[in-house]
Amino acid sequence: MLIAENVCKYFGSNQVLQNVSMKVQDGDVVVIIGPSGSGKSTFLRCLSHLERIDSGRIVINDKEITKDTKKINISSEVGIVFQNFNLFPHMTALQNVMEGPVTVKKMPVKEAKELSMDLLKKVGLADKMDCYPSKLSGGQQQRVAISRALAMNPKIMLFDEPTSALDPELVGEVLNVMKTLAKEGMTMVVVTHEMGFAREVADRVIFMSEGRLLEEGVPEEVFTAPKNSRTRSFLSSVL
Ligand code: ADP
Ligand code: MG
Repeated sequence: MLIAENVCKYFGSNQVLQNVSMKVQDGDVVVIIGPSGSGKSTFLRCLSHLERIDSGRIVINDKEITKDTKKINISSEVGIVFQNFNLFPHMTALQNVMEGPVTVKKMPVKEAKELSMDLLKKVGLADKMDCYPSKLSGGQQQRVAISRALAMNPKIMLFDEPTSALDPELVGEVLNVMKTLAKEGMTMVVVTHEMGFAREVADRVIFMSEGRLLEEGVPEEVFTAPKNSRTRSFLSSVL
């Protein structure tokens, strides 16, 4: 489903990703944890081809990305959900979700509307379809953002700290949508500090530090018996 092989990424002289390799199988839920600045967002942005890589390769569902890959739209392959929702402010919830299918996939408007309405219902927003983002809570905006990514029917969903910008009482509604997706078999890579979510949903947890993947294992293993000293000190600071 997804292979990253020796991915390196620089910003100027700052090497942000150092030979990052990872495999994700169909239906896997992989959680990435690690300190701020360790390259987690950059890695997800490289996986979704929003950021060019400097060496190595990424294969997603048989599409290969290398340093020479031209800008291609892979939103049908990979959906990404950001910390700050990034909805189009001048469009309603429904228009936000319809945008991709209509403009990128050239789906007929009627069909895109039905699909988008179904997706908004699925995330519990049947009554908010005609609202603009500014009239929605953070949790609602994030659920629209998830619907918008799903509307492209991606093979894999990437989440970059999807609940970090939310008030605590709104975190659960977003995590519940993500849990439902995981149960339905969606392949997911999730950067999060929600350790409860990781324990409950993740097949594997990866610890990232200073641009490297330092440790990988099932949640129980990584959380209760971390092998790497940096994983240990990170976990003791967040748990
Ligand atoms: P994380 O998501 O783990 O907090 P990031 O991927 O955001 O880490 O950042 C990793 C490193 O890359 C940091 O040192 C950050 O300052 C740097 N960085 C991220 N984006 C850019 C950018 N667009 N230009 C220059 N440096 C960047
Ligand atoms: Mg980040």
